[in-house]
Amino acid sequence: MLLGAHVSIAGGIENAPINGKNIGCTAIQIFTKNQMQWQSAELSTENIKAFLAELQRTDIKCVLAHDSYLINLCSPKPDVLEKSRHLFSIEIERAEALGISYLVFHPGSHLNSGERIGILKIAESINEILNKKPNQTLNLLLENTAGQGSNIGYSFEQLAEIVSLIEKQNRVGVCFDTAHAFAAGYDFRDVRSYEQTFAEFDRIIGLEKLLAVHLNDSKKELGSRVDRHEHIGEGFIGTEAFRLLLNDPRFYNIPKILETPGKISDFKRNLDLLKSLIQNEKG
Ligand code: ZN
Ligand code: MN
Ligand code: MN
Repeated sequence: MLLGAHVSIAGGIENAPINGKNIGCTAIQIFTKNQMQWQSAELSTENIKAFLAELQRTDIKCVLAHDSYLINLCSPKPDVLEKSRHLFSIEIERAEALGISYLVFHPGSHLNSGERIGILKIAESINEILNKKPNQTLNLLLENTAGQGSNIGYSFEQLAEIVSLIEKQNRVGVCFDTAHAFAAGYDFRDVRSYEQTFAEFDRIIGLEKLLAVHLNDSKKELGSRVDRHEHIGEGFIGTEAFRLLLNDPRFYNIPKILETPGKISDFKRNLDLLKSLIQNEKG
């Protein structure tokens, strides 16, 4: 199974694979640059070579990149929108240079411009960026949000609408974050609610678009619209939901990534717990 965590690139991107391997990951997620800065040093050929060599050595099978927190693909401020599109383009280039297959990104925050305008602007941003990159092979994964503040992407309908407005639809999928979905009001804590939520996902977005999962418990209640990750089994979601997800044959081959709080040892504890929930691995 492609199971792992968001690991640090401190000291160099080539350190990420071993950081994942040390806690038992078969898949990892990384920022390819400091996620809180607009600027970043270019990746050198040595960095890239070392990263690829380390991936092989550690036998990490799948890498996801996550975009910078500064990017807002529907900012109503023209300068921020321009900077965001530029940086998103760089994120794509960096991920591709590293041989990464998925770039997870947050749809955007409309601030005060309204959801409809925000959705149109996100799609316009993606179309503009992808049209400049005809040979792009990376999968862009829209991440569902908790709906905090003016964040777009908290409902399956909004995600589906963004996807429908993108010209190169085969380049775009969805990353389902459990904590975000739960905070946005989607329940999946028992078999019944789980089946219902994923049937709804299938009806509105299509399960074929679900290409990655973020496994996080939630510090906040169902429908709270507050994005606070918690250790698996210690939040309001509870372990049963994760047992259902991990054992769902429809999702065996999808990378599943922890973004729980704390140190690397906390990740190991969460990962070990998740592994204990897997009943009959076929992946
Ligand atoms: Zn995210
Ligand atoms: Mn996430
Ligand atoms: Mn979050």
